[in-house]
Amino acid sequence: MFHNAALKLTLWYLAIVMALSIGCSVALYHVSSGDLTRNNHRQATFFNGFLGPTDFSDYNRLRENQLDEDLGHLRTNLIFFNFLVLVGGGAASYALARRTLRPIEDSLEAQTRFTADASHELRTPLTAMQTEIEVALRDKAITKNQAIKLLVSNLEEVAKLKALADGLLKLASEDSNGVIKEPVPIKEVVSEAIARNTKSASAKKISIKQNIGNHMASGDLQSLVELLNILLDNAIKYSPEGNEVKINSSQKDKFVQLSVSDKGQGIKASELPRIFDRFYRAEISRNKDQANGYGLGLAIAKKIVELHDGTIEVKSAPGKGSVFTVALPTA
Ligand code: ADP
Repeated sequence: MFHNAALKLTLWYLAIVMALSIGCSVALYHVSSGDLTRNNHRQATFFNGFLGPTDFSDYNRLRENQLDEDLGHLRTNLIFFNFLVLVGGGAASYALARRTLRPIEDSLEAQTRFTADASHELRTPLTAMQTEIEVALRDKAITKNQAIKLLVSNLEEVAKLKALADGLLKLASEDSNGVIKEPVPIKEVVSEAIARNTKSASAKKISIKQNIGNHMASGDLQSLVELLNILLDNAIKYSPEGNEVKINSSQKDKFVQLSVSDKGQGIKASELPRIFDRFYRAEISRNKDQANGYGLGLAIAKKIVELHDGTIEVKSAPGKGSVFTVALPTA
């Protein structure tokens, strides 16, 4: 599809280049042949006036032949020039067409991959539910307890589907909405994000320590809360029970730095470059039952950071823990 589009675009570019080149060549030929003919006539008039009535027919024929020859040369040169423009312009047009289409091709490829990944993630809980329901329906002697167990299990799958749909929605809305930036107190961002995570932290007996200054970032409060919520949620999710998670803030040049550190499972160096990709989950997280997720959190976090013209970095070592640091422009 893109190959055909590139060829079509090449032909359009080439048609424009050739129309210009041929147009200029015709104009140049017209002007030059006019000049040469005028010169020729001027010479004839000069000789006639200077030497008086003499028979110049041979000389005139010679000059006419020379004029024809000069014009012939000019035509050959212009045709050769246009041939070079055709070959060079064709190659340049194709390179330009490929370059023009590359971003569209990349984004379509990313879209297709995203749809395939999302469908795959949706299928998994749906298939689990379908199998359980089918098995239960075939069992004529199903007890009330078994039916309740089935409903509880189905409810878990529904909760997973809802979390996935929420993640996809957030990603789509961060993708399409810009942010309206205003001065945001970092202390407010941190306290709102902590409030969202107190339940899960206390369930794992994890304490959240904070050391936050009176920094002001330029951004959208709710998006920044969502960003910190993702980092905090991960820090809790990927830490063993009874651990500690720290949130620090500092000022560096024109940026507020906000870091979330944990002493949890950490991330392998080979997996670090991929954790911000949509649907990517480190191997260890995919294997563990207790850490639910779809690999969308950090992709959303990265999107929010980009919308705020900030940066996000991670330092991590397996078994030792991770530090995620976000830098946001100050207000
Ligand atoms: P999810 O947590 O839903 O799997 P994320 O996009 O938030 O998706 O994270 C992607 C992956 O990065 C996780 O699956 C996990 O393997 C790894 N990860 C993120 N944060 C941490 C952390 N604090 N400690 C260890 N691994 C982490």
